[in-house]
Amino acid sequence: MTDTERAQILNYKLMIYICEGNDQEKLDWFKIINIAGEKLTDQEARNAIFACAWLDDAKKYFSKNGCPAQMLYGKYLSGKAIRQDFLERALEWIANRDGLLAVEFYMDAQKQNHTPDALELWKYFKAVFAWVEKIFPNFCSKLMKGQAWGKFYNANKDDALNATELEEKISQLIKDKEVTNKRGIYEYLLDGDEKHLSLRAFDDDQKAEAYERQGGICAKCGKKFEFEQMEGDHITPWSKGGKTTAENCQMLCKACNRLKGNK
Ligand SMILES: [Zn+2]
Repeated sequence: MTDTERAQILNYKLMIYICEGNDQEKLDWFKIINIAGEKLTDQEARNAIFACAWLDDAKKYFSKNGCPAQMLYGKYLSGKAIRQDFLERALEWIANRDGLLAVEFYMDAQKQNHTPDALELWKYFKAVFAWVEKIFPNFCSKLMKGQAWGKFYNANKDDALNATELEEKISQLIKDKEVTNKRGIYEYLLDGDEKHLSLRAFDDDQKAEAYERQGGICAKCGKKFEFEQMEGDHITPWSKGGKTTAENCQMLCKACNRLKGNK
């Protein structure tokens, strides 16, 4: 650089904040000074607060382009290593495993205990994807990238699951037009909750047809209601092969429908 350029840099006045206080106060400070310029991600701000030997080691695994997390499991992860998205996922999942309410609790413990390296986190992360590769061996980027795999692992790692049976169910569910959220298939297969599938709902035409057929009478309690006070219900549920067609629609009053839903 020329002398003039050097002098310009050396004479440039920097605005320095010295943030004092506990970890939470420092994090709040970051939020305030983070409004202008290139914004830090939440995990970048956490890294500034919880800097320690453990974090330096964790960054080797999770935080650089071409890091092991990206090379080995990048196809399962959304976001960018250098913006700390992979480190954040790993921390969210291990915090979830340990029943911690926030990533900060896990990071704080490593700093306080002077944990020398991040081997625990890295081994855990590898175990998550060893499990995913075992039970869902057929990789599909559109459906599998960015899922909360660690949380599924925490909840279901000890379940007896058969990859071949799961694979059959996956291809059935992908073909099933009633399933509108195909990305929810994995979680549904693990916990059995149909809400992950966003099953098709009846449209207004189908509901109007059923309403006319019933003469406005609720199919459960037998009382008469306005159209707006009623909801469409599958006579034969999806789990028993029922489709979202007018013939399979019955109108229930909201109270009856809620009772049915709770069963
Ligand atoms: Zn009713």
